[in-house]
Amino acid sequence: MDFTKLAELLFPDVDKTVEYYEELYKERNLPEGARVTRFAPSPTGYLHIGGLFSGLISKLTADVSGGAFYLRIEDTDKKREVEDGVSGIVKGLRDFGIDITEGVTGFNTEAGDYGPYTQSKRADVYHCVAKQLVLSGLAYPCFCTAEEVQAIRDEQEALGVLPGYYGKYAKCRELSYEEIEEKVKSGIPYVLRLRSPGTGEGKIIFDDMIKGKIEMPENIVDVVLLKTDGIPTYHFAHCCDDHFMRTTHVIRGDEWISSVPTHIQLFKSCGFKVPKYAHIAPIMKLDDGNKRKLSKRKDPEAAVEFYNEQGYPKESVLEYLYTLANSNFEDWRRANKDADLSQFPFNLKKMSVSGALFDLVKMNDVSKNVICVKDADWVLERTLKWAEEYDKDFFQLLSADKAKARAILNIDRENAKPRKDIAKWSDVPAYVAYFYNYEADYSVLPETINKEDAKAVLTEYKKVWNIDDDKDTWFQKMKDLCEPLGFTPNVKEYKANPDKFKGHIGDVSTIIRVAMTSRTNTPDLYEIMKILGVEEVNNRIDNMMATL
Ligand code: GLU
Repeated sequence: MDFTKLAELLFPDVDKTVEYYEELYKERNLPEGARVTRFAPSPTGYLHIGGLFSGLISKLTADVSGGAFYLRIEDTDKKREVEDGVSGIVKGLRDFGIDITEGVTGFNTEAGDYGPYTQSKRADVYHCVAKQLVLSGLAYPCFCTAEEVQAIRDEQEALGVLPGYYGKYAKCRELSYEEIEEKVKSGIPYVLRLRSPGTGEGKIIFDDMIKGKIEMPENIVDVVLLKTDGIPTYHFAHCCDDHFMRTTHVIRGDEWISSVPTHIQLFKSCGFKVPKYAHIAPIMKLDDGNKRKLSKRKDPEAAVEFYNEQGYPKESVLEYLYTLANSNFEDWRRANKDADLSQFPFNLKKMSVSGALFDLVKMNDVSKNVICVKDADWVLERTLKWAEEYDKDFFQLLSADKAKARAILNIDRENAKPRKDIAKWSDVPAYVAYFYNYEADYSVLPETINKEDAKAVLTEYKKVWNIDDDKDTWFQKMKDLCEPLGFTPNVKEYKANPDKFKGHIGDVSTIIRVAMTSRTNTPDLYEIMKILGVEEVNNRIDNMMATL
């Protein structure tokens, strides 16, 4: 067969050579050992937390090596595409700390020297490489219809042999130039297939950077490279792109492991260097004691948007994803409490082989730790931003008096051991509710406290408290209430002789706390009363006395 003639017949319009693109997309000028990685989603508009995770892993791998990371949009499968399926992905990445500086940066925008970074805009590149494969006898047109291909599959299934277009099943492999020319000229649609050099004897052995050494039979199937409309398959497109975008490490979900023999064969057939692979296990979840994949359909927390809606700060989400990424992260964090995440020595090789377990309770704990050490302005600013989008009424309430909101959020915040009440901004409305117009509920008053005693405490307390008292005086006044009312200021004394007293200082302060907040556990009551102010404190005392 005259492959030059065939290549011209199939690709009359391709005037560039592979060398042209080798020159256009120069080797990156990076230090020795620098890794080039990418995140390559389809434009579905939806970002799964697993996608964010895999994007983060790819970015970290590049960052710790002084390399480059870029976003490529893989839109060869039109069935999966939605209109502007890109902005949501870019925003999802950016919201959680992955700013895209190379590749697709938004709907119809991009940056970088290796573009276009959207596969549908790279037809010239694929066709040029495809032509080169035809020229070297490694690709051929296949005119089999979908029905014919299905019939082959059915036959193979009945025989119990490997399904696919290969060997003796690959009818179009041996067509002569004349036969091909006739079909092409009469307009019969065709796909372009790889002429797989696999013999069925060979093995593919590769060292996955996460999963370790993997051995699989080599590929023998003549996979489709270009579909009838000239659009490449994912397999072929990613091979051309990862080569010309100078990707050194292909990091992706482990559902692609079974395709690696095909991919390695494709890289080699094109004369491209095979990249290193790292396959990430999916993020798992415990469901009724069973581990299963975090599912887009069943689990709201699978969508990255969930974290925005709930108001998790990006710092918390990132911090939690790091705990899933490397199991030594938490030890590192304990030893480096204030260090920036970028200082963590992330290591691809320390990733979970079987799939990290996602746990929202743990995520909340991590987030509380992140938030509790931030100052009130940081917390207020983010709460307002969240509320403006997701809880307009609360936004109005907080913004009406920002100084008050700040004071509320500042209670106990500057302590050596700050409280951990807030995991996400949607926790804040309930957390601060009693500072605003709220429905008091005194049923939380412990049953051990007699209502008449509570009233007596409130009556006396109203007479003595003063907004200008310093904290010691404030507390002393509560203590002084105890004895005349049959309580004791001394908890030890109470414990030794519980029958002698109506209660102890803790009960007295609980009565006042419940009057102020309808809660038994709150941040510093002294600060709370200062924020409520004279009139409101007195109203609340009166209200509880009238209600009990
Ligand atoms: N477009 C593929 C996906 O969405 C990417 C696979 C890869 O990263 O190579 O799964």
